Amino acid sequence: MKRRAFLAGGGALLLAGCTSTPTPATTPDASATAATAEPTPSPTPEASTKTPATPPPDERSGEGLAVPYEVDGIIVVSPAHRVSAAYVPAWAERPNGLHPDAAAGFTALAAAAQADGLALSLRSGYRSYATQKASFERALRTYPEETARRYYAEPGASEHQTGLSLDAWDGSNRGSAFARTPQAAWLAAHATTHGFIVRYPQDKTTITGYAWESWHLRWVGTEVSAAFAPDPSLTLEEFLGLA
Ligand SMILES: [Zn+2]
Repeated sequence: MKRRAFLAGGGALLLAGCTSTPTPATTPDASATAATAEPTPSPTPEASTKTPATPPPDERSGEGLAVPYEVDGIIVVSPAHRVSAAYVPAWAERPNGLHPDAAAGFTALAAAAQADGLALSLRSGYRSYATQKASFERALRTYPEETARRYYAEPGASEHQTGLSLDAWDGSNRGSAFARTPQAAWLAAHATTHGFIVRYPQDKTTITGYAWESWHLRWVGTEVSAAFAPDPSLTLEEFLGLA
């Protein structure tokens, strides 16, 4: 496996829950979701087998890891694998705070969508720990707690803090409204062709901790994403043996 390929350039990243909701009225704003952290250059992962390159996660109740947890070179940031407020990827200052490969990947993805007649743009990329904290707290004030937690990651538990994830949209529909757009269906069918996975598939909440987010994409690189093509509802946790 060459899973580390997508991390070329070194640096750690991971996931973050973002969210939107299939629930009518109270659909959280997808862009206000998940992750955050402060940029701290992290070492380039060299793992070539499913051996954690970082210490076993024991950060559930702590402050999170200074360097994202990884399995086989693939960064994982989730409620079970958090990063600290001090973690800021090296590319946080780039446009949208995205890893260069993820940014290029999205450009290609959007071009492919356009070729199929669908406008697709980036709504939210990197989010710092502080930004995520504010977003999560706002969600708690806005929605019932369970809904907020299904769609918004706590600070440190958002993939957005890694700069490897992004929220896409059609320019006008968010949350559950976006889930009903042709773009959402297109992403479900074609994201894996371009190095991305829909990170929080429908009906996988018990595994990911988040509701279905048709707009939240995680860059994993085309070699890894190809493994998800046969079953786009496969989760990263299942793929990495973490489920
Ligand atoms: Zn998101």
